[in-house]
Amino acid sequence: MEITRKAYAKINLGLDVTGKRDDGYHLVRMIMQNIDLYDTLTYKLNESGEVNLSASAEGVPTDDSNLICKVAHQLQKEYGVTKGVDITLEKRIPVAAGMAGGSTDGAATYLALNDLWDLGLTKEQLCKLAVKLGADIPYCIIGGTALSEGIGEVLTPIKEMPACHLVIAKPAIAVSTGWVYTELDSKDIPSHPDIDGIRDAIEGGDLKGMCDLIGNVLEDVTTSKYSIIKDIEKILEDNGAIRAFMTGSGPTVFAIYDDKEKAQEGYRAVKESGLAPELFLSEPIDPNK
Ligand code: ATP
Repeated sequence: MEITRKAYAKINLGLDVTGKRDDGYHLVRMIMQNIDLYDTLTYKLNESGEVNLSASAEGVPTDDSNLICKVAHQLQKEYGVTKGVDITLEKRIPVAAGMAGGSTDGAATYLALNDLWDLGLTKEQLCKLAVKLGADIPYCIIGGTALSEGIGEVLTPIKEMPACHLVIAKPAIAVSTGWVYTELDSKDIPSHPDIDGIRDAIEGGDLKGMCDLIGNVLEDVTTSKYSIIKDIEKILEDNGAIRAFMTGSGPTVFAIYDDKEKAQEGYRAVKESGLAPELFLSEPIDPNK
């Protein structure tokens, strides 16, 4: 038996940090959105009990430190599964980019192994296991457009975001998520994005209103060290984007367009600048449809 799944990337239409728990986890309020940029995973049942992963992508481990393997081992242990799985990962989502690349592969693995190993678990049960391995994985299991709260495990689905076109641009720099949060903790947050306003604009189908409110408290931290992010945003906004913003802790920028040709212009302008070697035209997507 073999299962193939697409694991979609996410962008943050809003990201706020509202506090910190005693165990060090940050409390967040985030508007999450899947986009049509995905890794492809195939899962083949084996009887040996082994979990084998093959992937040919720079920066992606294939040993037990990969979230995909962690998920498989967690399910084996938790449910006494004696069967194994041979997994192949075709990576397209930029790595360490703020697009939940590892988390979405982990989420796809929960959903695939639930079927392959006949576990019969609900998405709710999978999310409870998932938050132990990564705060973004529960959202990746649910997918679509959602408000994510708590440490990422309290999820409220939102109406699909208004149709638009996206340019996704990742500069060739590595940003440590740990460093970004440590920096954030060392200062007061000057202003918080209006997460409820973003949600209301989405619910009302108001693309422009949503774009006006987009905000991410991590952006100032990351861009204070990596000004290339602002340079890319400027190129995109000078070339027809309603708004260009950073996703997660960066360094990837997403730009929102109301017109496909304008998005293609923005894409070309960034390509010519050479500032973002990993560059994609994309769209929001609801994987549940
Ligand atoms: P987030 O948006 O959730 O912060 P990210 O997009 O910034 O995630 P990832 O692409 O998940 O970051 O990569 C972070 C690190 O996780 C990588 O440096 C890599 O070593 C490790 N990793 C483990 N599993 C995977 C995976 N399946 N795909 C990519 N990276 C993985």
